[in-house]
Amino acid sequence: MFESNTLRRFDKLETPFYYYDLRLLDQALSACREAADAFDFHVHYALKANFNDRVLQAINAKGFGADCVSGNEVKKAVETGFPAEKVVFAGVGKSDKEINEALDLDIFCFNVESIQEIEVINLLAAAKNKKARVALRINPNVDAHTHHYITTGLEENKFGINQWELPACVDALKASDNIELTGIHFHVGSQITNLDVFKSLCVKVNEIHEWFSERGFVLKVLNVGGGLGVDYHNPDSSAVVDFKKYFEIFDRFLERKPGQEVHFELGRALVAASGSLISRVLYVKNGLKKNFIILDAGMTELMRPALYQAYHKIDNLSSNTDGLVKYDVVGPICESTDCFGKEVELPATSRGDLMAIRTAGAYGEVMASGYNLRERVRSVYSD
Ligand SMILES: *Cc1c(COP(=O)(O)O)cnc(C)c1O
Repeated sequence: MFESNTLRRFDKLETPFYYYDLRLLDQALSACREAADAFDFHVHYALKANFNDRVLQAINAKGFGADCVSGNEVKKAVETGFPAEKVVFAGVGKSDKEINEALDLDIFCFNVESIQEIEVINLLAAAKNKKARVALRINPNVDAHTHHYITTGLEENKFGINQWELPACVDALKASDNIELTGIHFHVGSQITNLDVFKSLCVKVNEIHEWFSERGFVLKVLNVGGGLGVDYHNPDSSAVVDFKKYFEIFDRFLERKPGQEVHFELGRALVAASGSLISRVLYVKNGLKKNFIILDAGMTELMRPALYQAYHKIDNLSSNTDGLVKYDVVGPICESTDCFGKEVELPATSRGDLMAIRTAGAYGEVMASGYNLRERVRSVYSD
């Protein structure tokens, strides 16, 4: 888990902080790179999972592209060194300012999420005498079988263009001289661990791809999004995701035309395992019905449990007594949802113990907030 010299280092540091194991990050990036190369697949890293500078530098160094969901993420990607021709920009609510800035940077592609957005990008591109490359984000109505808060590919979700809107979409594209259609894009949800979901997605993509072919569109890119899940329960034994198994599904079930590129947008699967939130126990409250461990980290540092009832494994790094005790592990924030885990079995825990909340490298530090006027959470790196 953590080596003894790392633990000695933690002991001297002010808590809470995010700890990034850059060697583990590199292992995950290499595994993904290798597996993707074997199938000639292109991977764009979804910046929103973690835009910590050191993390981004490591990802850029491996040659991945960038998948952005705001104008500032587009700028950040380009500033970090991601080539503009490998930057894509998604999101249901791109502002005119964000679109203009992305046009100025000549990014690879806008993933457009409505017919009205096609019209707006066309107007803004025309004003600059440019041609904007776009992919249509299509809602495939595929159930991701994940928590309903992180499902995005169903008709009731706000994301993407519904299939019944496609004829109108084609009309809008034909009327837009400053738009070039590069491909179709899908993203059905996050933390998907049932790989059959991706099989269903492939079937849907093939069907929609065919629909476009029949109408004479040649699509350069099929973008199947991200969403590959990680094993939050076993952070040590399955630290690196099986990327090969994931890509194999697309290789087998997705019908590619010769020369057509397949793009992926992975976030969580690349970065989750390499981060842990390290915190110290402030107080232990032993009650009649429950025991509480109160940490110096809370939902202001890691929001996932409060936001989507997410599970993170919690380890006590200071104590290893045999007998296990059940604790509710909570933070100091004045909200009842500020709880990292209920009835967690841990060794007997005392004030001052160091605790690790594992697999916190994705959607952790980036969601930190200043609620309760909390200090900005720090980061520490393995090197
Ligand atoms: C969030 C997001 C991703 C990445 O999702 P992960 O579950 O982290 O892999 C990819 N594409 C789009 C459009 C997204 O919004």
